[in-house]
Amino acid sequence: MARPSTDLVPERPELSDAVWLDVLSAVDRTYADLVDYQERLESQNAELEAMRRFLGSILASTSDVLIVTNRQGLVEEMSASLATLTGHPAASLQGGPVTGLFVKDHVPALDAAIQTVTRERRPVMIEAALTTATGPSELELSLAPRFDERGRVAGLVLTGRPVGELRRTYAALERSHAELKAAQAQLVRNEKLASLGRLLAGVAHELNNPISFVYANAHALERYSGKFQTYFDRVQAGATREELVRLREELMLDREVRNLRDAVQGAREGAERVRDIVEDLRRLSADGSGESEAFNLMETAKIAASWVLRGARSTVQVRFDGAEDVAAFGRRGHIQQVIMNLVQNAVDALDGHADGHVTIAVQDEGARVSLSVHDNGPGVAQDAEGAIFDPFFTTKAVGKGTGLGLSISHKIVEEHGGELRLLPGAPGGGATFRFDLPKGVAS
Ligand code: ADP
Repeated sequence: MARPSTDLVPERPELSDAVWLDVLSAVDRTYADLVDYQERLESQNAELEAMRRFLGSILASTSDVLIVTNRQGLVEEMSASLATLTGHPAASLQGGPVTGLFVKDHVPALDAAIQTVTRERRPVMIEAALTTATGPSELELSLAPRFDERGRVAGLVLTGRPVGELRRTYAALERSHAELKAAQAQLVRNEKLASLGRLLAGVAHELNNPISFVYANAHALERYSGKFQTYFDRVQAGATREELVRLREELMLDREVRNLRDAVQGAREGAERVRDIVEDLRRLSADGSGESEAFNLMETAKIAASWVLRGARSTVQVRFDGAEDVAAFGRRGHIQQVIMNLVQNAVDALDGHADGHVTIAVQDEGARVSLSVHDNGPGVAQDAEGAIFDPFFTTKAVGKGTGLGLSISHKIVEEHGGELRLLPGAPGGGATFRFDLPKGVAS
């Protein structure tokens, strides 16, 4: 039988040294791994702590109510505003059912919403009142699902904003919207007044001629009637034939009878001119709201240009070019307004220009007709090109332009199924605006 060795000295010392070295280096490696692991753990802890502080700061500072629940509907986290609103310390709310925070009557609706969110995995909005120290507080409540790392619903996030505050915000928004609309309406009124002013200047100028004509003829008629009165008085008084012949010569009654006819004719023509002008105006306002019809585009352009030029008392020369008898289809008054705007802009652009001229051209384009207004002014600046059709864009002095002319004109043409454009690079400089309309079949 072999005897167990009691000797501690190894039989092969070089072998045992190698083993010890292996062990020591394994210990070293393990220690290094441990240090590394510890460092990573610490850095992750620091990240977690920073994240916790970040979330805490959000929960502390958000003014909205924010509640995070677990899957069972128990409160896990909440914003400080909830504690403030309910008057209960945060710790006492944690772990309780979220429905317990709301007014009893609203709990069934809240329960139903929670079930919908969990089942359909989508947010739901409801209104529910929170029980607070000062009574129920209505909240516009949004319930959204939150998911765990495997995509399962892990609970809910409820965010609520006091309805009163929302209503106040809406009311303020509505107020400023109404104010904006009123300001816009005022500007549109200003534009209307400005074009009305221009139109009236033209009307006044236009009416002045025939009225002074009628007035002068009325004066003449008054004078003639005085002479005839004298003659008839003598006839009544039984004057002799010789006396009457003499008186007739003296008063030049034969000539005055002819003049009388001319004066009546002149007065009638003056009155007819006034009637035509009034008729033009009446048509302009009536056509504005009237039915679409076929109308002569060139004729309308001539009337529009004449109103602008008379109002402006401008030295600008206007030429008409192209199809004289082509008809467009639309509301004549509206289209007249568009042409007046374009001509007015051209005249304004030619202000101070020695040899300013505007060419209005009508073109028959098969199923459509087009009209262009060209001026030899400075043209539209390149950086303004993109903005000229925007409402309220103007480069004119305050009180001179409202910046609505082109945007209103653009809209009118669009309503007629056409397009108003600024043509690129007009020949010889200046600006050319062009619009098209459906062709009208003249009745
Ligand atoms: P407003 O005439 O009140 O300024 P518009 O909408 O009619 O408003 O015109 C907007 C701007 O477009 C004008 O202020 C001007 O800068 C530019 N514009 C329009 N027509 C012409 C033109 N014929 N030549 C040069 N610029 C023009």
